[in-house]
Amino acid sequence: MGSPSHQHQHQHQHQHQHQDLASALTPSVATHSFKLLLSSACLLAGVTHLAFGVLFYQALVTPMMWVNVGSVLTYVLAAALIRRDIIGPAMFLMIAEVAAHAILAVVTVGWESGFHYYLLVTIPVYLANQLHKWPFKITFASVMAISYLLLDWYWRKAPPQFLMPPDTLAYLHRFNLATTIALLSGLTVLYVHLITQAEERLHELATTDSLTGLMNRRSILAALEREQAVRERKPHPTAVLLIDIDHFKNLNDTHGHNMGDWALQAVADVLKTGVRDMDFVARWGGEEFLIILPFADVGVAQSIAERLRQSIADLRIPARNTDITLTATLGLSALSANEVADQAIQRADTALYRGKNAGRNQVVLAPSDQAQTSLMKAPPG
Ligand code: GH3
Ligand code: MG
Ligand code: MG
Repeated sequence: MGSPSHQHQHQHQHQHQHQDLASALTPSVATHSFKLLLSSACLLAGVTHLAFGVLFYQALVTPMMWVNVGSVLTYVLAAALIRRDIIGPAMFLMIAEVAAHAILAVVTVGWESGFHYYLLVTIPVYLANQLHKWPFKITFASVMAISYLLLDWYWRKAPPQFLMPPDTLAYLHRFNLATTIALLSGLTVLYVHLITQAEERLHELATTDSLTGLMNRRSILAALEREQAVRERKPHPTAVLLIDIDHFKNLNDTHGHNMGDWALQAVADVLKTGVRDMDFVARWGGEEFLIILPFADVGVAQSIAERLRQSIADLRIPARNTDITLTATLGLSALSANEVADQAIQRADTALYRGKNAGRNQVVLAPSDQAQTSLMKAPPG
């Protein structure tokens, strides 16, 4: 256990898992799709504000025209920041623009324009973002909330600086209200989607082996438990197959750890493709694999095991100068009626080690549960 190569291997595996976990848990917001989303938002907002700029220009509301020009420039700047991966500030800029624009619009063309709705939207959007820290988020959300209350208290009744035609104002109100509803709905759908994705990714990480993509030890034990439950209701034969690559340490020592990893992946592929759809294949430990073969009697299980052994022996893994070849030893046990799975795995393990001692590269069938029990009772010799 304490040999340098073991320590190295453990470190290696740890790093693997650590990286995977980190990429699953750190906000997927930093990913390409989030950047794409933000850039699209910039484009959409930029175009909309350009249109609003024209509208206010025609309605002769010059200050609002300039506000919109400012908005368009802000979105251009935000898009440029996103391109350079400066996501946090870009997002803050976008949200601050929405808030400032909303306040200025209410002050200029009045509460009835409905621009104040956007101020409300900034609160959930900003609170949900994962790029900024909570104290910052809470401060910003509070400022927005207080701004909204002040706006409501004072500007709802105050006469606007510019009187727009009532029809235009009514259209504007409906447009802003509809946009707000669309924004809130879209954001909710987006967040639910992100959470679901993260959950799926976490589930995958918890149940699969990161190197080979096979089930991990925990999930095959769970599968074995479910299989036992089915067997209790409806008895059927089930076999357990334990596979250990022969002299794997030599491969690592001769060709390096990466080549070893590569070989493990190749063996995993052989096992995965060599069994039936209903079978379960797991990485049981370092260079050991466990397969559950439901509805396989001893004969079927033996022929599957022999086929797998042959496929592993047929593998050619291209290395620098030569092709690496591998062999494996397989221990097979048939689950008996009331046997706990652990015992069947134990019997397969014992069979496997008999195979190792008998020269490796072979399938060894474990004596049945009953035979083993009577063997143990029998006097040695
Ligand atoms: P035997 O035929 O008796 O099984 O010999 P062996 O060398 O295969 O068995 P041993 O248990 O001595 O060595 C297993 C080796 O598998 C040691 C370890 O470094 C290597 N190993 C375990 N996990 C990994 C891994 O994830 N990647 C790589 N490259 N090697 C691994
Ligand atoms: Mg081993
Ligand atoms: Mg081995």
